[in-house]
Amino acid sequence: MKPPIPLAVIGGYLGAGKTTMINALLTNTEGRRITVLVNDFGAINIDAALIRERSDDVIGLENGCVCCSIGGKLMETLIEISARETRPDLLVIEASGVSDPLRIAQVGMLDRAFRLQGIVVAVDAQRIDETLVNAYVGEMARQQIATATAIVLTRTDLLDDVSAQHARARVLEMAHTRIVFEGDQGKVPGALFFSDTAASAPRGFSRSIAPLHVLPTGLRSVTLRSDERFDKRALKSACMSFSDRLLRAKGFARLVDGSCIELHVVGPRWHATPCRDIAHTEIVFIGMIEDEDVQRALAAAPASRTEPACQLREERHVGRHG
Ligand SMILES: [Zn+2]
Repeated sequence: MKPPIPLAVIGGYLGAGKTTMINALLTNTEGRRITVLVNDFGAINIDAALIRERSDDVIGLENGCVCCSIGGKLMETLIEISARETRPDLLVIEASGVSDPLRIAQVGMLDRAFRLQGIVVAVDAQRIDETLVNAYVGEMARQQIATATAIVLTRTDLLDDVSAQHARARVLEMAHTRIVFEGDQGKVPGALFFSDTAASAPRGFSRSIAPLHVLPTGLRSVTLRSDERFDKRALKSACMSFSDRLLRAKGFARLVDGSCIELHVVGPRWHATPCRDIAHTEIVFIGMIEDEDVQRALAAAPASRTEPACQLREERHVGRHG
């Protein structure tokens, strides 16, 4: 009998910093083999692309929530990993921002080839208050925090001490764990992932599966794929023009000046950094949105040609997505 593979589930609401945390972990593996499974709610797995820059053992599970609509794919992948000749020393599963990390852990624990290393939930300290009161996603974010075995507060560097303390206190109100770190640039203590002792099971945990969680009504992803080059400022204002219903956008864009950017929109926050050359503009939008929102916004963004600026792929999430 081979020893079980430690399994760490990384959860947290859309844009909380899960991918950053995994990339930080991959720069400091202490010589361990780490396999990363990345669930992205959108049709194009942007997070997997970002993690592949650090690791070649990355498996993408996209176009749905891995704890419900594409749960079968998760099981198949776990079986494939446990059957490998050379098994990883750690399996990390990045949950999508709308998934239930507890449920993912439970699916993993159905297979005795794995043991639970922990459920690490990233919480954006800057946005915790507005996320928790959000009518669509507040309850989901609360659940994610409640079932964590460790919490990583992100973006505390952007806050003063009082606000950072406030964020910590809010998390502790809801979480059953007392383990709360501040994750500077996604860095968290290696012991969280590499200790030989498994995390104590979160409340509500059993080797059976919790009922399917219900995603917010109207939650969809819309994928833009385009050969156009975009004006950066116009692209930004396009994204901002429906930010009341847009929860998250992420992807890569080719700009009119010939450069390329990696872009992230989290609520009202836009963040773009230069990236390597890419062949197409690919952006995933997630929110209570329609194709027309994206179409209308981008039609207003000057691009390199005057043809329709984008092709959208509608993503229908079948299953219990309410
Ligand atoms: Zn789900």
